[in-house]
Amino acid sequence: MTAPSPSEKAFVPFVSVENMMRLVHHIGIETVLTELTDVIESDFRRWPLFDKTPRVASHSREGVIELMPTSDGEIYAFKYVNGHPKNMAQGLQTVTAFGLLAEVSNGYPVLLTEMTLLTALRTAATSAMAARHLAPKGAKTMAMIGNGAQAEFQALAMKAVLGIDKIRLYDIDQRASDKVARNLAGSGLTVTVCPSAQSAIEGAEIITTCTADKQNATILTDNMVGSGVHINAIGGDCPGKTELHKDILKRADTFVEYPPQTRIEGEIQQMDPDYPVTELWKVVTGEAIGRHEPGQITLFDSVGFAVEDFSALRYVRAKLVGTGFYQDIDIIADPDDPRDLFGMLQRAKD
Ligand code: NAD
Repeated sequence: MTAPSPSEKAFVPFVSVENMMRLVHHIGIETVLTELTDVIESDFRRWPLFDKTPRVASHSREGVIELMPTSDGEIYAFKYVNGHPKNMAQGLQTVTAFGLLAEVSNGYPVLLTEMTLLTALRTAATSAMAARHLAPKGAKTMAMIGNGAQAEFQALAMKAVLGIDKIRLYDIDQRASDKVARNLAGSGLTVTVCPSAQSAIEGAEIITTCTADKQNATILTDNMVGSGVHINAIGGDCPGKTELHKDILKRADTFVEYPPQTRIEGEIQQMDPDYPVTELWKVVTGEAIGRHEPGQITLFDSVGFAVEDFSALRYVRAKLVGTGFYQDIDIIADPDDPRDLFGMLQRAKD
């Protein structure tokens, strides 16, 4: 069997996990996080341009599988992502993902890439972008509750973008906190492993909750949250999966990505449908007020939105140029005569 001639193929760059790791190290992880924060922010500035829809979720007892599409009219993107909190006990990732970019003008894909690492990077960059607008100025200490796969990325983004220099860790499994402490040794962050969530949040201006449990959990209760803090709530991102006691939401000013999705998936699913929220993009553009008084509690009710993946994908596409950290793959049948798809198949038989 002879393969069709190369002229009958439209190759698509594919970034494997191995190549994504090479690319990140080539650029430098903190540089990636800083640049990605800026790219996401620039896309939030042109938010009204994007096609937006709550992600398409397929729920099961064990977890969720989601598709996250969007387009700015020139480029289309989607991500496939799962969330399975029990996976970790079986030695599997809670979250895995891959994604694709395509040209709107002809529909042809222009990038296919792993997105498990890229999701951790973009989630951290989005947290940092939100904190840049919402956290108390000069914040130096972040509490990090839930020390799994996302944790180090969150810590490094807050360091690189905001100048956080102390991280206080808590996880129900101390091995997870010890892993983060080990991984962040030499990062320039002072890392403290704490015996409880209450102790982790002592002195922290930013509290990140990043736990995985398919239930309405109460990682933070109202009495734990002092005035003036910024809460970066990442782990509550599915119907029936929240981390904060609802009394915290009554005291906080809450900022969200895309309200129709966050009302289904975020912390605010616990509140009435008219619970007031501010769209983060409006804070970024200056149309809405973010932090405006010292005692204010700000809450970024993060669930992860398709525009952030779009930003991450276009960032990777731009950074790949000239690196060779990809393989050209043959996933588009593109016969020389576009009507002769069958002829192309027949030629492969000879
Ligand atoms: P992971 O399974 O690797 O880590 C979760 C950690 O939480 C584990 O170490 C676990 O021991 C700990 N934990 C569970 N219950 C806890 C509790 N009550 N108190 C303290 N620690 C607790 O998961 P991950 O990949 O780090 O993801 C964390 C969460 O973030 C998941 O729920 C995931 O769905 C969510 N997530 C959100 C976004 C977003 O954009 N908002 C993006 C990625 C992941």
